[in-house]
Amino acid sequence: EAKAQGKGRRVTYEPALDQHSAEQARTAADLRVALDTGQLRLHYQPIVRLSDAQTVAVEALVRWHHPERGMIRPDLFIPAAERTGLIVPVGQWVLTEACRQAARWRDELGALEYVSVNVSPRQLREAGFAAQVQATLLRFGLHPRHLTVEVTETAVFDGGSGLEELHQLKRLGVNVALDDFGTGHSSLGLLRTCPVDLLKVDKSFIDNITDQGERSVIAEALIGISDGLRLRAVAEGVETQAQADVLLRLGYRYAQGYHFGRPMPAEDLPAHLNAAHPAAVG
Ligand code: C2E
Ligand code: MG
Ligand code: MG
Ligand code: MG
Repeated sequence: EAKAQGKGRRVTYEPALDQHSAEQARTAADLRVALDTGQLRLHYQPIVRLSDAQTVAVEALVRWHHPERGMIRPDLFIPAAERTGLIVPVGQWVLTEACRQAARWRDELGALEYVSVNVSPRQLREAGFAAQVQATLLRFGLHPRHLTVEVTETAVFDGGSGLEELHQLKRLGVNVALDDFGTGHSSLGLLRTCPVDLLKVDKSFIDNITDQGERSVIAEALIGISDGLRLRAVAEGVETQAQADVLLRLGYRYAQGYHFGRPMPAEDLPAHLNAAHPAAVG
């Protein structure tokens, strides 16, 4: 440890590590600026009903339009934001923006059941997170049922106050989705008592369901669990009609993926809703 080596002595780090942390620090500093100068945008990806491929909801996904680096995907800056705590103001911005947009869509389109927002473990651990959500809903006159909060299994089952905040969100009437379901380390038994309405079955279980043999067995087991617990399930990362066909046959009712629509700016959604959809199945 650096400190143990004595005061006033310069510590030499691994060059790679040094570079890495410098990069992280730069990203975090840039992100602070991005937040203050409006470089963050939300894109929205359709969540569809498999029986007729109609969009019933959307997931808000953050994008960073960096003046020099171009568009940066969340996987490249959310981790840094989580480590530095910047995810808290970034997450609040995402929530506010998504609720503002959801209220507009409610007035203009009426067709969407909910807007889904990703919430990181760090945000959920902030005391008063649920109260912040409530204040944001009130600000835009949005009914809680029009908001879904997506959390990962780790965030929910790691102990701490995350679970309590989720219970509070439930009491408000906000829906809770378990994101990337199946990839975390939760015990399935905990699912029975945890305040979750919707399981988002991770893309990794959807990818190979059209292969020969028993490749769809996990996807089938997961919809069984979801049905048994009377939860809703959304299959993530559906890229082909063949996958959609298998999912419908397995009993899935909702899906999300490039086959049905990529994440898009808010202004593109009305046209998407009016455009021809991939052939419905069933
Ligand atoms: P996620 O919440 O699981 O979101 C789904 C990701 O899969 C999105 O990537 C989406 O663009 C991508 N995706 C959707 N359909 C397909 C498909 O058919 N094929 C493929 N290959 N990919 C598909 P994206 O937008 O890059 O986001 C990555 C992750 O970053 C998200 O995973 C989420 O965990 C995180 N994230 C995004 N926005 C936010 C945010 O506002 N707050 C927080 N805390 N995390 C966010
Ligand atoms: Mg998500
Ligand atoms: Mg997901
Ligand atoms: Mg995923």
